[in-house]
Amino acid sequence: MAQSEDLTEIRQSVRALCAKFGEDYWLDMDRSNGYPSDFVAELTSAGFLGVLIPEAYGGAGLGVREAAAVMEEVCRSGAHAGVCHAQMYVMGSVLRHGSEEQKRTYLPKIASGELRLQSFGVTEPTTGTDTTSLKTMAKKKGDVYVVNGQKVWISRIQHSDLMLLLARTTPRDEVTRKTQGLTTFIVDVKQAEGNGLEIRPIESMINHHSCELFFDDLEIPAANVIGNEGEGFKVILDGMNAERILIASECVGDGRYFIDKASAYARERVVFNRPIGQNQGVQFPIARAYADIEAAALMVDQAARLFDAGADCGAEANMAKMLASEASWRAGDICMQTHGGFAFAKEYHIERKFRETRLYQIAPISTNLILSYLAEHVLELPRSF
Ligand SMILES: Cc1cc2nc3c(=O)[nH]c(=O)nc-3n(C[C@H](O)[C@H](O)[C@H](O)COP(=O)(O)OP(=O)(O)OC[C@H]3O[C@@H](n4cnc5c(N)ncnc54)[C@H](O)[C@@H]3O)c2cc1C
Repeated sequence: MAQSEDLTEIRQSVRALCAKFGEDYWLDMDRSNGYPSDFVAELTSAGFLGVLIPEAYGGAGLGVREAAAVMEEVCRSGAHAGVCHAQMYVMGSVLRHGSEEQKRTYLPKIASGELRLQSFGVTEPTTGTDTTSLKTMAKKKGDVYVVNGQKVWISRIQHSDLMLLLARTTPRDEVTRKTQGLTTFIVDVKQAEGNGLEIRPIESMINHHSCELFFDDLEIPAANVIGNEGEGFKVILDGMNAERILIASECVGDGRYFIDKASAYARERVVFNRPIGQNQGVQFPIARAYADIEAAALMVDQAARLFDAGADCGAEANMAKMLASEASWRAGDICMQTHGGFAFAKEYHIERKFRETRLYQIAPISTNLILSYLAEHVLELPRSF
């Protein structure tokens, strides 16, 4: 499948931008738990984080295929796209379900970088993957909703101006379907923190800036509901296919990064008086990882094309995410093996990428839940939950 000129141009421009932020920059961020504000600012001002925002709201008005190319190249450069990827797909909920006033208020500022919408609050400690059982409640009182509850693993909130929040507005036992009675809000994080929202960072395996959130009578203006009250699950769900495709493209980028690194090292490293890559025991695993990543990349592209055509792409988006996250992990493992002991030295950067790419078999949705989706929704097997 030939790449359109557009994508080649986007890829080259993203590569050039990323080249200014070398791997030592990302190693420093990882060591210090730092947030790469200058990288994010440059990616935004170059227009790459706003590729999906329509031109009428200050963005580039391109599709998920182009957005996927951006994310893939960011990851392939050795960068950690997890610092900024959410804006691309979270923004879609505002775009598709927000009122015209909300779109005019937020989207141009998100496109210009004046506002960051990098955070979404869905996961809760006691309900996890069972999203519709979440317990955070938002009760309407006049012009505001009063929110009480708890979230966990909410990433980048300390580096974001806005967060999309999913909360229950009608108790689960008062709705006919469990997906009803949930509402999505846009939260002004800076205003909320200290006024009913407490944020506690979680020390974790990767530099993802994830936090626990505690809501204690946080007031959110009723005007900040995205879409209709009680229909928030659909608002969030609608963004999920784009999210899966973009995360999958990041995994393809990670996989290609690992294969580039492994191949280069296998050509250079001489042991027993010959390059280690001359041994088929070293070559074959790299070649297999390459084949796996290329196959996953085709599924990512297929899902993105369907998404951009407005066609149903639930199965393809899920398969892309599963195949790409598993392939990138295997490529990372082979890259580690090819580097021998040096794989463990931080200055080689591989161990950091290895940790980062592992996340995507668990978040934003774990492999089992994807298999469950395929089994039940595509293969029509009986529902297990
Ligand atoms: C670094 C990081 C960043 C994150 N960022 C965000 C964020 O910004 N916003 C947000 O809302 N969330 C975020 N998350 C949360 C993430 O989406 C969840 O961790 C993920 O969806 C899995 O939920 P859980 O951890 O509660 O696992 P659980 O739901 O407890 O599941 C644990 C394991 O059991 C399996 N399992 C559970 N039920 C079944 C079943 N019925 N059948 C088969 N297997 C099952 C799962 O597949 C999983 O492997 C983040 C997580 C991490 C680690």
